[in-house]
Amino acid sequence: ISTRASNILSSLGISSDGELNGVYDGHWHGSGEVIVSTCPTTGEELARIRTASKTELREALERTREAYTIFRNVPAPKRGEIVRRIREALAAKREDLGALVTLEMGKILTEGVGEVQEFVDICDYAVGLSRMMNGRVVASERPEHSILEVPNPLGVVAVLSAFNFPVAVYGWNLALSMAAGNATIWKPSPTTPLCSIAVTKIVSSVLEANGVPGAVASLVTGGKDTGEALVNDPSVELVSFTGSERVGRAVGQAVMSRFGKTILELGGNNASIIMPDADLSLAVPAVGFGAIGTAGQRCTSTRRLYLHRSIAPEFLERLQKLYQSIKPGDPLEQKTLLGPLHTRAACETYSGAIEHLKKVGSEILVGGKRFSDAPFGAGNFVEPAISVPKSVDVSDSIWTTEVFAPILNVGIFDELDQAIEWNNSVPQGLSSSLWTRDIRNVGKWIGPSGSDTGIVNVNVGTSGAEIGAAFGGNKSTGWGRESGGDAWKQYVRWSACTLNFSNQAPLAQGVNFSA
Ligand code: NAD
Repeated sequence: ISTRASNILSSLGISSDGELNGVYDGHWHGSGEVIVSTCPTTGEELARIRTASKTELREALERTREAYTIFRNVPAPKRGEIVRRIREALAAKREDLGALVTLEMGKILTEGVGEVQEFVDICDYAVGLSRMMNGRVVASERPEHSILEVPNPLGVVAVLSAFNFPVAVYGWNLALSMAAGNATIWKPSPTTPLCSIAVTKIVSSVLEANGVPGAVASLVTGGKDTGEALVNDPSVELVSFTGSERVGRAVGQAVMSRFGKTILELGGNNASIIMPDADLSLAVPAVGFGAIGTAGQRCTSTRRLYLHRSIAPEFLERLQKLYQSIKPGDPLEQKTLLGPLHTRAACETYSGAIEHLKKVGSEILVGGKRFSDAPFGAGNFVEPAISVPKSVDVSDSIWTTEVFAPILNVGIFDELDQAIEWNNSVPQGLSSSLWTRDIRNVGKWIGPSGSDTGIVNVNVGTSGAEIGAAFGGNKSTGWGRESGGDAWKQYVRWSACTLNFSNQAPLAQGVNFSA
């Protein structure tokens, strides 16, 4: 492999010779099918990874459960202290790990490093949480009785993650899961195995150095079969799944059929609405970042733009200028703002979507082509596109489907109510953003007749959430919540405990059952 790729790998203690072990459950191994990690920027093969065989997966699950039975008895603040040490180890490798995210996933360096920072941030949050996962004392109707609501550790948490956030999504889950006293088993995307190996090396070194079983944070690389096996295994109490609506639907049904718990973080189809009183000098760059950032491969990417008729021409002119100023480049270079799509298949999806838009009469204002010549031809580079469909037909797949590529569809409205109706007309419900200075619009937007998404922003774009609030979406985005807010409450099992310290044994509701 290239010198720069091998330098990034060696900075994280990963060898670039031969096949790598893709399973960790206290020790490293791997004898299953081999998967290949490919660089989306250059097309070079970065590594070959031996994934988990069926037997290894079963054993990893057993070790993870054993680790849980030990870890659940460690007091929560002591667990928090381990998370704090993981935080320190991650922060020390922030730049190296961020560069690996860029190398393997393709997002630009500042975003790759930002993703590691997000893991660091959620560790800080979880350290605090480890002293604040409070239950409740509830008033009992019976004399000399108390009722406690106690949060106990839940068990084994399987994290199935998507390619586009190969580090942060696992971080959100691991940090809370550990604070809650669980053991976690991670199945990352089969196209970002190196990120998962690098993260697990950092996490496991802290666990092992502190006498904690490594299988508190197990890793099983693999594809669909490995994911399905975890989803169907009754020993997994919680499946936290991040990915497409199509796979999420199957995962949700499978886990529900065995009465397991899920957190589903699925596709988004996010809109920005621009009112006549919006500050365009803020709104234009925000829409640009939302639509072009991560080459349109965030679940929160801006995919629909609804412009008030009065500002539409000016907004579109300014937005096109911004699009034209953004050139593709090597995502590892500091100045690059547009990296590649993650896979060749994503380029096909992009081209197919552009063709379809043209066929049904959309005007493509800017973009729409793949870069096929050197130096970009070997990678998966495409031009971010702005399309103006003939009308906003809310039943048309143009508007209802998430295309995971940088394509922004524009509609023109006259009244805010109309724009909110369009915003809410899609199956997905992840993020949305309103640009206005009028408090009356704001009140409507965040209230009962407003946006129906999980993330409802005002003068802030659709993407780029902080970890403090619970993150997630409604409707076909899956209703899951991760990260901050009350998300931790899903990682514990709640025990309602009635304690009787009287010399009687009265029944509730005054029921009399004396013979
Ligand atoms: P994907 O659904 O193809 O894959 C997600 C994970 O599921 C991978 O680990 C994959 O190997 C695994 N998998 C595939 N088939 C499976 C099966 N039958 N059973 C169990 N696991 C299976 O998604 P992707 O292409 O990696 O990611 C892009 C999608 O993820 C987009 O739709 C994006 O919006 C979504 N996403 C959502 C969020 C969120 O927080 N809402 C965050 C990031 C990405």
